[in-house]
This record gives sequence, structure tokens and C-alpha cells, in this order.
Amino acid sequence: MLGLFSAFLLLYGTSLTLDKKKGSDPMNLILLGAPGAGKGTQAEIICAKLNIPAISTGNILRAAVKDGTEMGLKAKSFMDAGALVPDEVIIGILKDRLSEADCANGFILDGVPRTIAQAEAIEKMGIRIDKVLELSVADDVIVNRMGGRRVCEKCGASYHIVNKKSKVEGVCDCCGGKLVIRKDDQPATVLDRLKAYHEQTEPLVDFYRQRGKLAVIPFNDSIEATTAEIMKALEA
Ligand SMILES: [Zn+2]
Repeated sequence: MLGLFSAFLLLYGTSLTLDKKKGSDPMNLILLGAPGAGKGTQAEIICAKLNIPAISTGNILRAAVKDGTEMGLKAKSFMDAGALVPDEVIIGILKDRLSEADCANGFILDGVPRTIAQAEAIEKMGIRIDKVLELSVADDVIVNRMGGRRVCEKCGASYHIVNKKSKVEGVCDCCGGKLVIRKDDQPATVLDRLKAYHEQTEPLVDFYRQRGKLAVIPFNDSIEATTAEIMKALEA
């Protein structure tokens, strides 16, 4: 019974993500936003609400290599040579992943596509995208948020000078270790990453706007309010 069912999904799953909506109204989504805009948090909440998986390139790449799929082996040959995995291989792995049964209701892509070339590859491969959500947060807000993060250098516990203070400033509640700013959270590093985002990924906002798929989610400090905005955009 179960075998028959998975065989059915295997046959049916591929066409499901490619063809027009069928009955259950799958939601194929892309989540865009600068590093620090809260993508991970929102992806997790939306996935639970809609019962769809969040898919990031890092995870599917690792899984494909580990499982030794055709695309995975291709990717591995580039990685072993110390080269970047080309877009066609990444998007090929993505396509394989999206044909799995858990994507029948849809999916959220987080961190892919990263560039116009990847977005074009997704189109070319016939992967249907219903809506692209852009979490729009001003750079200075992101710098302030990330600049306020503190990490215990001994046990790794994380704090925030505004949102999650330690009992004693600069000292870890758990182990008494010293709280430091990670290199990734230093304003200079954050600004560098924002610059890369604006240059590489932001053109995607226009790409999907032109295709009538973009929904801009304005910044809100409350996680719940942001989720509510996203759900509203999905119903529209
Ligand atoms: Zn600690």
C-alpha cells in the first residue's frame, strides 16, 4: 500500500511542481531578504503553518552529495577540485529535491536563487514559483540588530544587548564566561554582507516584480506581526 503510494508520488511529484495548480493549491514560495532580516525565523513559522518544507541550497547540496545522486556526484567533483558548484548543478539538485513527496503542498526556498542567473535557471527548468516574499529591512536597522548580538566565548550561549540581556553586562548567565561580538556581527562585516546582498541578490526583487510575483513585507520589530503580513500577502 505504502509502496504503491510512494511510487505514485514519485511519478506524480515531478509534474506537480511543474504544472499548473492542481486541486490542493500548492504554495511554491521564495523568501528574499538581507542577512539579519529574519528570514530563518519566518521560514520556520510559515513552514509549520502551511505544512511545507524550507529548502536551502546548503542543505540539499550536502544531502545530494551524501546520497551520491547523479547531480550530487557532479557537485562533489567541483567541490573536491575546490571550485564553485555551477548554477546548472545547483538548480538540478534543487529540481530533484522539489520532486520529493514532502513538496506536494509547496515549498519555501531560502537563500536560493541568489543571483539572476539562478532565477533564470529555475525558470528554464520549469519550476513554478507562485510568490516571492521580500522581507524589507533598512540597512541601519540590520546593523543595529546584529551589532547588539553577544556570544559567550566559553560556552557559546547567545545574547542581545536590547532583546536578550544577560543578568550582568558582558558576563554569561550560564557559565560566567566573557561575552564578545562575533566577527560576523561586527558592523564592518555586516555592512560588507549587506553590500554583497544589494549587488547580487536585490536585482531578483525587480526580476520577480516584473513577473507580478513579488510581495514586499515591510519591516516590523514583532515576529508575529511580520508573520501576519506574510500570511496576508499569501492570501492576496
Ligand atoms: Zn557561557
